[in-house]
Amino acid sequence: MRPARALIDLSALRHNYRLALELSSAKALAVIKADAYGHGAVRCAEALEGDAQGFAVAAIEEALELRAAGVTKPILLLEGIFEPSELALVDAHDLWIVVHSAWQVDAIERANLRQPVTVWLKVDSGMHRVGFHPYEYAAIWRRLQATGKVRDIVFMTHFSRADEPDCPRTAEQLATFEAAREGLSGETSLCNSPALLAWPQVRSDWVRPGIMLYGASPFEMPQEQVSRLVPVMTLESKVIAVRELPPNEPVGYGARFVCERPTRVGVVAMGYADGYPRHAPTGTPVCIDGRPGRIIGRVSMDMLTVDLTDHPHAGLGSTVEFWGRNVLASDIAMTAGTIPYQIFCNVRRVQREYRDGL
Ligand SMILES: *Cc1c(COP(=O)(O)O)cnc(C)c1O
Repeated sequence: MRPARALIDLSALRHNYRLALELSSAKALAVIKADAYGHGAVRCAEALEGDAQGFAVAAIEEALELRAAGVTKPILLLEGIFEPSELALVDAHDLWIVVHSAWQVDAIERANLRQPVTVWLKVDSGMHRVGFHPYEYAAIWRRLQATGKVRDIVFMTHFSRADEPDCPRTAEQLATFEAAREGLSGETSLCNSPALLAWPQVRSDWVRPGIMLYGASPFEMPQEQVSRLVPVMTLESKVIAVRELPPNEPVGYGARFVCERPTRVGVVAMGYADGYPRHAPTGTPVCIDGRPGRIIGRVSMDMLTVDLTDHPHAGLGSTVEFWGRNVLASDIAMTAGTIPYQIFCNVRRVQREYRDGL
């Protein structure tokens, strides 16, 4: 079998979730949308179910998969319903919904629900993607209350630049949020991972950590709390061929790497079809049998090449880590011009193996 695999450490996931609770002193919905950022939503939910106060996913399909697997904790749909008919499923499966648009309020008004629904009412405090305008927020809240079909209404908003600790936008969004809900009582939810990690002055009843649960930094610069996160995913594979090349010989597609010295090249079963970023250039770090190494040449679909010249003990069958505890996914993301969110979400085709240290 092809040796490419993603090891998922569920005890690290729990550690990171507990860190989110500790740092925020709030309740936390574990954000496990997009198949838990490529880590496997059902397995991650099961691992967290003893600790987590609830989960958040993007859409009802993801929530139904969790309910079918026996997850009973609250599940929030971060984009709410996509059409009015979904309210019947929301009702049947006891889901929480974000309400961000007027048509969703209309749908609740018209719906026949068995039980009142929990709504997270979103205000657009400056991201300008979804959410109600601050000036209409209170009126929408009253309209929802008047339906008699709503249990709790949590006030929520989403930050656009919380990963930039020196940017005033987060404080501006916070002020807009507070003004929009002035005089209304209910729980609040503000923080994603970067806000939770870098903005201790932002307080709310609920936080919504995503990327930090998987142990990766949302920041481009060093950040104090990030060192306390433990990477959950290790992406690794093995050397499947070795060759010795003289100087001036090229390696791989497009001859993007040309040997400067006698070079021992290791070919590894990992490529962009597994989600490894094709734009990772020569020099991108890897860890070869526990020692720092580098990629050379272009990443192809199923294979890539590493420099074994300074790794005399490595050879056929050596293990190469692409990210994990030795190579940080956020560093690879930066090197390849992307973010760790996309690095994780792109992982596919490799075998997933779960470990649970506790
Ligand atoms: C995805 C998402 C989050 C989690 O964001 P991270 O940066 O991964 O922590 C939080 N809130 C909302 C509304 C989201 O869509």
